Amino acid sequence: MNKEISPDSNHAMLTLGITSKLSGIPSHSIRQYIEKGLLIPFKLDSKRHLFSMNDVNRLKHIHYLIKEKGLNFAGIRALFSMIPCWEVMKCSSKDRLKCEGYISNSAPCWEASSKGLICKNETCRECVVYGCLNHTADLKSALKELA
Ligand code: SF4
Repeated sequence: MNKEISPDSNHAMLTLGITSKLSGIPSHSIRQYIEKGLLIPFKLDSKRHLFSMNDVNRLKHIHYLIKEKGLNFAGIRALFSMIPCWEVMKCSSKDRLKCEGYISNSAPCWEASSKGLICKNETCRECVVYGCLNHTADLKSALKELA
């Protein structure tokens, strides 16, 4: 199978409408998830967004956390802020103290305005820390895989 069209691909090729159909989540909810920092779409120069099959999976997992687990946006953001990115990325203790991703307990690291040296030039959308929720809605299992 062509890697770019594999269902596991991170290749952004889907429009908002198609992503909505595939995930079963209305477009306005997808926009809200983006606004709340739960999903990072691929941004075209024209400012339009594109999505991948990983994004479709991630959307379903976020939806599950809201509908089945009763979490609100703040709860999901707090949950995501606990992913120990500093361990995964092996940030130095000095770097951690300057990184909002390490300090904040209310926002995920990919939303941090100040980041450590290792993350400064990384594309969060493609990072394993951000991506750990693409494959499961169970954060604990995702963390075990990251460890
Ligand atoms: S690259 Fe982005 S998502 Fe990955 S650990 Fe750093 S801030 Fe978080």
